[in-house]
Amino acid sequence: MPIQEKDVVWIEEPELSFWEQTFLPAVAGGLKVAMQHTVAQRSVTEQYPEQKPDLPLHYRGVHRLNRDEQGRVRCVACMMCATACPAHCISIVAEDASKDWPDRDKRPQSFVLDELRCIFCGMCEEACPCDAIELTSIYDLTGQTREQMTFTKDKLLSIYDQTKDNPRDPVRTHRGRLGCASELERQPLSATSPKPPESPRAKKQ
Ligand code: SF4
Ligand code: SF4
Repeated sequence: MPIQEKDVVWIEEPELSFWEQTFLPAVAGGLKVAMQHTVAQRSVTEQYPEQKPDLPLHYRGVHRLNRDEQGRVRCVACMMCATACPAHCISIVAEDASKDWPDRDKRPQSFVLDELRCIFCGMCEEACPCDAIELTSIYDLTGQTREQMTFTKDKLLSIYDQTKDNPRDPVRTHRGRLGCASELERQPLSATSPKPPESPRAKKQ
């Protein structure tokens, strides 16, 4: 259906005065704003790395593989996280654990997570039936080679050791809520506490 003439709004180009045509008022206005910011000296740029970023509580950073009460890897090699991962960045090789660990059928012989491919969506954490894989608030992830950014089981376990006492970790990604970390009063990233908050899922176990 063609557009009706009455529905068309014609916009007239405004006529510029002599001074507006010289652009001097616009230049003066710009200089005024620049001077106001110079005098106020309000910095909006974070001076990283000297100044640590003020990240939101639901910021999802580097993964960790949790340990159980006996210090063993909590993962039972069920492959749920690898199946749920939309970026296909988790590779697990399972092995029989029943001989050494009577309470387990399987454990991961190798667990490799490619942090370069990861999109930090948190679906692995959500899919894990035993709270074995979680995301942390660690954000300064760097490496000089691809191999350094490919995290093995030992490296992921060492991140658990490093973050288990940080009250901001783990960053929970339950659907519809941010997780227990978001329910705490905002904590600085460097803050540590002897007791990490107990997760709602852990309470159920
Ligand atoms: S955070 Fe998302 S992309 Fe990264 S490993 Fe987990 S499921 Fe895969
Ligand atoms: S981390 Fe969790 S979901 Fe992934 S294989 Fe281990 S137990 Fe299964």
